[in-house]
Amino acid sequence: MSLTTRRDFLTMAVGGAVDLTAPTRVFGSRQVPGHAEKGTAAPSDHAHARVMAIAAHPGDAFFAMGAPVALATHAGGQGWYVSLSLGEKGSAKIPLDKYGAAQRQAAEKAAALLQAKAVFLRYPDAEIPINDEAKFAVCDLIREYKPATIVTHWKGSWHKDHRACHDIVEDATFYAGLSTIIRKDPDHVVSKLYFADNWEDADGFVPDTYLDITAVFDDWVSACSLFPMWRGENGFRYSDYYTSLAILRGCTSNSQRAVSLMSPPEQKRQLVRIP
Ligand SMILES: [Zn+2]
Repeated sequence: MSLTTRRDFLTMAVGGAVDLTAPTRVFGSRQVPGHAEKGTAAPSDHAHARVMAIAAHPGDAFFAMGAPVALATHAGGQGWYVSLSLGEKGSAKIPLDKYGAAQRQAAEKAAALLQAKAVFLRYPDAEIPINDEAKFAVCDLIREYKPATIVTHWKGSWHKDHRACHDIVEDATFYAGLSTIIRKDPDHVVSKLYFADNWEDADGFVPDTYLDITAVFDDWVSACSLFPMWRGENGFRYSDYYTSLAILRGCTSNSQRAVSLMSPPEQKRQLVRIP
């Protein structure tokens, strides 16, 4: 197989590697049911990438969703790491309030290192509720910060908080885009929603989009290293897993380091015209 052929195959096999900062390639339009599709965004509409990670716990926000946000800020855009809880019940040895405070501090430092903002909603770890209060709280953050792209949990998870976060974000994105829902800020349509490649959310996860994260890999690892759990202190070897995964996804997307993402089915629709 020649190099060209192999590259063609790789491009086909992975659905194409994506530059998150290239608006015409990534930022399409996510149609809100009942509202007219706004069409593909012009490059001038998205001079910079605006990416928001929304996770159940700070570790998920940085380890599984951190690099796409880092890519956006690296390109001069804006990024947000939203955690629905502090993950304060994640340590069997450290009291909840102490561990929660340490998680918050690590997230704030990690976000600053990546030139992004850490945002917390403070639902109790392991007890994140699936209700309209939580969905509107996330809707309000989406309307306030106006991300073009959101990365969150895939629903195929053994962790109930991760499944809750998935449901909350799907409905919050819907609420955020409806102009007939009156909140503090006006409606905001999120262009793209992606699900992250998370070891705890692997059931039925099928990647279709790959981001080349080579440029931000070292900074992203430095940010993740601010969390003690990254080094395996809570039992899972996060550092080994996610750095190896970046190499593996890089191999299959013809880049040095990459993360893979999964799109909702409706986002994969394409209109093709034969000239
Ligand atoms: Zn988690």
